Amino acid sequence: MVGAGGLGCPAALYLAAAGIGRLTIADADKVDLTNLQRQILYRADVVGEAKVTAARATLSAVNPDVVVVSMERKLEGEDLLAPVAAADVVLDCTDNFATRKAINRACVKARRPLVSGAAIRFDAQLMVFDLREDDAPCYACLFPEEGEVEEVQCSQMGVFAPLTGVIGALQAMEALKLLAGIGESLSGRLVVFDAKSAEWRSVRVAKDPGCSVCGGG
Ligand SMILES: [Zn+2]
Repeated sequence: MVGAGGLGCPAALYLAAAGIGRLTIADADKVDLTNLQRQILYRADVVGEAKVTAARATLSAVNPDVVVVSMERKLEGEDLLAPVAAADVVLDCTDNFATRKAINRACVKARRPLVSGAAIRFDAQLMVFDLREDDAPCYACLFPEEGEVEEVQCSQMGVFAPLTGVIGALQAMEALKLLAGIGESLSGRLVVFDAKSAEWRSVRVAKDPGCSVCGGG
């Protein structure tokens, strides 16, 4: 799991409670008072502590049998490859495109399934890229690497707190489905949720043969 913020907190709680064997969490941040509204692993008494340390304490209290590996650093570039290759499923719970792109590249290279969530203001997205499959699209098929994307982050724009809970829980759900081989994964579909209207939409996403990350382009 990359990112232990609004999405990562609920996702990690469900994964640990479910008895996932080993959960590696990477995040460089410290707990800030403004995080507590949505980052439900943390309490007021851990403000100022490293998120991964506080997260490990909470998760171990929920389920002492789960091995929680904390990496207090910003995982990026080549640094992502080893932890991604060592994981069965990767959860992208970050809030910036540069890291998202780097996680996608590492997952394509190591052929690991990627469960990607995003939430800002009242809008959210959920995607699964099962990169074990040859015909699965990757994140860059949807958001090309060379494309210009306006960077908006929760820290600047804010996010409706329960929305991160909804999407984080869905990320845990899809991760458990992938690990246990249950049902039909969301791979190849983009789910969009508008919290204001409480409406879900889902669109199919095809692999782009010209994708600069997973295709020939
Ligand atoms: Zn691609």
